[in-house]
Amino acid sequence: MDRLIETDRTPTAVIQVDLDGLWAVRRCYGRSGRPEDEDPVYREAVPALLKMFSDLGIAATFFVVGADAQIPWKRKILEKVLDEGHEVANHSFNHALQMGQFGRQQVENEILDCQKTLSETLQVQARGFRAPGYSYSPQVLEVLEHNGFWYDASLLPTRWGSVLRWIARRISTTPNSPVPQFDAGAGGHKTTRPFWATEAGQGVLHEKLACESRPLVEVPVSVTPRLRFPMHGGIGFLLGKRYVTEAIKAIRRSRHFLNYVIHGMDLVDGQRWPVTSGWKQRWLFGGTGEIRLKFFTDVCSHIREHFEIVRTDRWVEQMRKGA
Ligand SMILES: [Zn+2]
Repeated sequence: MDRLIETDRTPTAVIQVDLDGLWAVRRCYGRSGRPEDEDPVYREAVPALLKMFSDLGIAATFFVVGADAQIPWKRKILEKVLDEGHEVANHSFNHALQMGQFGRQQVENEILDCQKTLSETLQVQARGFRAPGYSYSPQVLEVLEHNGFWYDASLLPTRWGSVLRWIARRISTTPNSPVPQFDAGAGGHKTTRPFWATEAGQGVLHEKLACESRPLVEVPVSVTPRLRFPMHGGIGFLLGKRYVTEAIKAIRRSRHFLNYVIHGMDLVDGQRWPVTSGWKQRWLFGGTGEIRLKFFTDVCSHIREHFEIVRTDRWVEQMRKGA
């Protein structure tokens, strides 16, 4: 049984942004790309998000891929993210989707290479981590805890993992390539509320905890309360504003914590920057940048009406103090 973290009376929300560059998103769908390529996620989406957050008075958490932070012009944009009071967290070095199946050494490389890059280029010690494609394992949690991370945000507690995986494969330009996103249903039995990651049935991990260290917190990505269908980012955009705002209201009514996730790519005009091809592209990445920005602005201001929005690291710090 997961030991839940008691959240207080004020409903709290965090807003997290995955800054996978265009190259990383294209690789998710079977195409190629390199971090140094021209990139509308950094060039267009980040400035739009910064303006939106500033207008709404929101401090967010940006999950950054290490290979992007190494590119000088992208680094300058990340410096702006920090200047404006947002948190920068770790989203692995190469954005490899199979992290849940990696051995210990590979997991360490992915997490620690990104951590080193963020520290050298931005002087940031990231406190949080999200595995690419929500694919993680007890080893990932162990590496995080041993390296002083405060929280993990890789859990997407949906029961629809296998369906989502099937769709992702259909959308891919190379349907047979082994690039599964979403942990095929593995998170479906997990709680949708934040919990102590290393005490959640991970007995081995718990034994390895040093007495003085504080346990790692899992901050799950929010899904709809009953059906547990994803509501974040591009999936929410496809299903429409009413679907997302009703889900947010239901989470508010049940006094659950809200972790709303946006991808930088969600704000990019898919006609100009294709990720896949044909109908798949039109269906999945339709809508101009403006229409998309309007959608996420409306959703974020709806969240602001109903929740107190805090930076993830600050919220986790409070929880750990009381642990
Ligand atoms: Zn990602």
